[in-house]
Amino acid sequence: MGPFFQQAHLEILSNTVALSEEIISDCFGLTTDYWLRNPFEVRTLKDEKRMTLPRGVYAHLEKYGNDWREKFYGKDTRCLYRIVVLDPRVLETTGGREAVIRPFLLYIMTHELIHVVRFSRFECAVSVEDKTEEEGKVHLLTQSVLKGVKIPNLDLVVDFFKGEKLTLCMN
Ligand SMILES: [Zn+2]
Repeated sequence: MGPFFQQAHLEILSNTVALSEEIISDCFGLTTDYWLRNPFEVRTLKDEKRMTLPRGVYAHLEKYGNDWREKFYGKDTRCLYRIVVLDPRVLETTGGREAVIRPFLLYIMTHELIHVVRFSRFECAVSVEDKTEEEGKVHLLTQSVLKGVKIPNLDLVVDFFKGEKLTLCMN
């Protein structure tokens, strides 16, 4: 498996994580301590050393902590989210070009953090039966949240995730 992200890619990743956190906080009107109460960590496949890749996705979200129902009933409010970015797949799709990786990672991180917000607000359960429907909703929310964001090639990436473009070729 591989190749994995290089240092330059990891820096872009951490910048886009911070940017998507900010965009989502604004759009969803989150309180300043929101991400402290709903902490998440971002890893790449290289750190994870896993052999299995979920099919057709670029990142994978996991939630640790007690069952959401206990959280809902106030028994435990702690939980931790882990987002694993499947870096070999991101590199393959973007060709490793910085001009594409940046908007691509911004889309992915925004998408995953919207999942986090929806879990934390009980707008969907982690064990939600119809994952396809939830995915569709989160893609629509991602696209609407990113509408006002001006970074190069983001429109290309949005079209790609809408299925309107099959490749991320810039011509
Ligand atoms: Zn998703």
